[in-house]
Amino acid sequence: MNLLARLDRQHFWHPFTQMGDWAKSEPVIIVRGKGAVLTDSRGREYLDANSSIWTNLHGHNHPGINTAITRQLDKISHSSTLGLTNEPAALLSEKLVRVANPPFVSSRENGRPNLPLNKVFFSDDGSTAMEVALKLAYEFTRRNGRSSRPRFLSLQGAYHGDTVGAVAMGHIDLFHRAYRGLLFKTDRVMSPYCYRCRFNRAKPERMDAREYKKCNWECLQALETKFQAQQKRGNSYAGFVFEPLIQGAAGMIPQPEGWLGRATKIARGHGSLLIADEVMTGFGRAGTKSLNPASPPLFACQRESVQPDFLAVAKGLTGGYLPMAATLTTQKVFDSFLGEYDEFKTFFHGHSYTGNQLGASAALANMEILKTRASFRARQELETLFRTGLQGLWRHAHVGDIRQVGLIAGIELVKNWRTREPFDLRERAGIRVCEVMTQLGVLTRPIGNVVVLMPPYCTTSRQLDRMITVLSQAISRTLEKEAVS
Ligand SMILES: *Cc1c(COP(=O)(O)O)cnc(C)c1O
Repeated sequence: MNLLARLDRQHFWHPFTQMGDWAKSEPVIIVRGKGAVLTDSRGREYLDANSSIWTNLHGHNHPGINTAITRQLDKISHSSTLGLTNEPAALLSEKLVRVANPPFVSSRENGRPNLPLNKVFFSDDGSTAMEVALKLAYEFTRRNGRSSRPRFLSLQGAYHGDTVGAVAMGHIDLFHRAYRGLLFKTDRVMSPYCYRCRFNRAKPERMDAREYKKCNWECLQALETKFQAQQKRGNSYAGFVFEPLIQGAAGMIPQPEGWLGRATKIARGHGSLLIADEVMTGFGRAGTKSLNPASPPLFACQRESVQPDFLAVAKGLTGGYLPMAATLTTQKVFDSFLGEYDEFKTFFHGHSYTGNQLGASAALANMEILKTRASFRARQELETLFRTGLQGLWRHAHVGDIRQVGLIAGIELVKNWRTREPFDLRERAGIRVCEVMTQLGVLTRPIGNVVVLMPPYCTTSRQLDRMITVLSQAISRTLEKEAVS
């Protein structure tokens, strides 16, 4: 066995991995990447079909991002932002504020643009960005007298990260049950999972369930009921926590058009803060469709003109190069932490690497690429090709639902598409399909029975084709064996 593989087996404990299974096969050791291609220690090439767990945007080894990082490397890699500031982080805070506030909200006050999301708090990853939003929302609510015991509402199946506060906001039993004793109480409300919604009276068809669903928006009624019930108890929800347009780790659950706008209106109507988790959906991942073609949105919230009070970004912030995250919030929230030193209203929170220069440089380069016409067109074209290409997968009887939002797709594998009967998780249908895909040179990971495809924006049409064809072959080989032989 390869030396690295041996050292790995001896000491490296991998995330979200049953290490007993891990030890049974030789690991793929990635040594380099270029564009959408990853190369392993044996020289084998793979397509990065989930953008290295949803982080990468413009491909690996991108000259623009590489140059930005190495330029910064020649100056300094890291100095603290406790009592100091630095060039790339200061520039980045302004850039983030600019893209997070779409034109539909920009009014002017005293000649200066009045930007709702005006302040940026940097952290390291999606979990910590959500922790910051949670702590700020909690303390803001207490300070403005709305509640002394702020309570939060999030969506069924929600995933907002793995640190303890983020876990408390989540509702995935498999991940979270064991740690219940560590968590504070939050509430959950049904999410608009059209394919498996008990209120959807439509029979399954060979298309995205959102397109043929028959319902009366019971999910929104449930949300309204939840808010009303909490109000009756005299402790209205302080914050509504959601992923806009599509929930990721919940199983790639997309929202039918109009849900986001209406759901957030309900929450606002009850005085709740809006906490948007765009860790996955941010920076163009959720598509190029725009209400205002002159300014294509980079964030999913903007697609339904939703103005959150907190916006958490991470994964794609640095183009998938370095761990860095940010929580954007409003002047109002910021002001509630202002005071004389001895009032101790300071936000006592931070990380050693807050505002790291290398991360901020990568993020600035990422934003430069994103704003070019060429990048926008490429994403637009890729999204269309993706939509067309995915249709071919309907021919598999074991494909129950194909759901796409921008450059994110979830393909739900089922025992029987006519009844939507799911595979038992113990059958590891998703895992087995992805294992065969790896053998065929395409890397991705499933969420239970949902296979994720999330190509980097630089993916060529041939590479995209290959990702979809290999998934199709893997489904045939894994789930249709009996039928073929
Ligand atoms: C990945 C993810 C997180 C957690 O981010 P980490 O960087 O893994 O801590 C939070 N929210 C969403 C929506 C995510 O996809």
